[in-house]
Amino acid sequence: MRFALELHLPLCTIKMPVRRKLMKSDTPSYAARFLRHRLPRICVALFASNPSELMEKVEAAANENSLLELRLDYLPKPALVLPKLKEFAGFHRDIILVATCRRAVNGGKFRGTVASQSELLLKAAAAGCQLVDIELETAKALKAQEIEKLRQQAGLMISFHDFRGTKKLEETWEEMHQFPADYIKIVSTAKSLSDNVKMMRLLEHRSDAVSTVGVCMGERGIISRILNVRSGSAFTFASAESGAETAPGQMTARVLRDVFRIDAIDAATKVYGVAGDPIGHSLSPEMMNTAFRRENINAVYVPLQTSDVDDLLKCVREMPMQGLSITMPLKQEIIKHLDKTDALSAKIGACNTLIRSHDGKLYGFNTDVAGVVRPLEQRLILSGAKILVVGAGGAARAAVFGLRERNAEVWVMNRTAETGQKLARQAHAHYVSHAHLKKLDFDVIIHATPVGMEGSRPQSPLEESDLRTRYLFEMVYNPAETKLVKMARAKGVQVIPGTEMFVHQGARQFEIWTGKPAPVEDMHRAVLFALGIVPQAFSVREPTTLPQAKRG
Ligand code: NAP
Repeated sequence: MRFALELHLPLCTIKMPVRRKLMKSDTPSYAARFLRHRLPRICVALFASNPSELMEKVEAAANENSLLELRLDYLPKPALVLPKLKEFAGFHRDIILVATCRRAVNGGKFRGTVASQSELLLKAAAAGCQLVDIELETAKALKAQEIEKLRQQAGLMISFHDFRGTKKLEETWEEMHQFPADYIKIVSTAKSLSDNVKMMRLLEHRSDAVSTVGVCMGERGIISRILNVRSGSAFTFASAESGAETAPGQMTARVLRDVFRIDAIDAATKVYGVAGDPIGHSLSPEMMNTAFRRENINAVYVPLQTSDVDDLLKCVREMPMQGLSITMPLKQEIIKHLDKTDALSAKIGACNTLIRSHDGKLYGFNTDVAGVVRPLEQRLILSGAKILVVGAGGAARAAVFGLRERNAEVWVMNRTAETGQKLARQAHAHYVSHAHLKKLDFDVIIHATPVGMEGSRPQSPLEESDLRTRYLFEMVYNPAETKLVKMARAKGVQVIPGTEMFVHQGARQFEIWTGKPAPVEDMHRAVLFALGIVPQAFSVREPTTLPQAKRG
């Protein structure tokens, strides 16, 4: 009797004889050989607490994704889903299904033995799963014939998870390579940004020998989920929706596709990013990736969660990265690590933009100045204009120095008087206390404190009677309508929203990095869209948010 393996290719079904002999470790199984050429970049991991729910999720995810991992270990009785799975696979021959039933001792939820795990995966393969995943620990426990039996039914992925760190990647990969794996999946936990670099090096060295998937979990590992495909990872994992992650740091398939354009990333893709802590709510990836897409630049812009400058700079040098946006709490500290900064950054004492030159040197700029000055210059002549800046932190300093350079007459008001007075002295501006504000009228009032930001109480640093001005420039952009903005509108004061500053500082960064004019309107639309202020950006997609600590 001849066994036949059915391969479901998009347009046809091929029946081939299955080889009975034990295969060498470097010979991909028939199934895997065909899969290799047709795997998409994203594998969506799915789980549910009962078979019907799992199949509903599979059906929904299959509308947009053709590679799905089924986490059978989340089901109390995984075998019960197999008949439904078989039915699905019969109807959806273009969908590639990966069966995973990770044992609890290896970080999954399956409490059965290695033998029952292997038996279940054989049945899943018979039901139509083209790939099965076993942990390295299971591979070690199985006999060679048992592994080969699995491999005759489906492509075999051998996986290893390190939930504590990123160590001994090469040695682990070598150990996994002793088994006849069609795919090696190696997942670690990033404790630093540099751990991602280790994972990228592994992928660059090893993925030619055997298709390898490499990912670092955790908030510091988010970049590995985007950049791994650039270094040779066969694919990357994603969740179907926010809140349905199977591992810390996982993003949705939609974010990977729409924000990071994962399908367009290749070895020549230049890497940029935004570094800071927290970084999860940053809209910079939405805005900058929109700009790169609009200008047809082969580049991707990623979030780097860190407050450790040394780790950040190691990652920038070794990845390497072409440029960075720097945000809190690194804007001041980064300056002393750079080869050179522009004169204004040095005066302000903060840098929000970094570029890496061809010789590896790092240069710093402050584009917050452009973020303040450009929107104002579109509305009034700055020379001689009377401007009040509320606040004396990094953003306020950029505003005050930038406006003084344009010969505006500037007043500073700050909660801590000494800090405000010091800034006023340094920039040859005036200091004014709240008590003396009522004597003054302004062309512009710039609000540069976090008061009224999303997540805090809707407060205002000024009273309605203080708003004797033509324009209010509100640096806070989330929420769009702060209490201060509402007060200003009610009084007929024209409002310049913080999104304009955000877009213009980003536009200047784009210009520094690429030497091209920035597509400001598209960037602005992407930001308004991400904030839910306009219903649709130039590409049709849902508003997206980046992973938080878990995204998690
Ligand atoms: P920062 O360096 O931490 O400075 C914060 C300033 O706000 C300090 O002057 C501080 O006064 C004051 N402040 C803080 N809490 C206050 C309170 N409860 N009441 C009154 N004053 C308070 O921050 P930053 O980087 O300058 O950022 C300031 C704001 O600008 C933030 O909301 C930030 O999101 C926004 N921003 C927006 C953009 C944009 O593109 N739209 C760009 C940069 C910044 P003390 O000296 O008394 O501590």
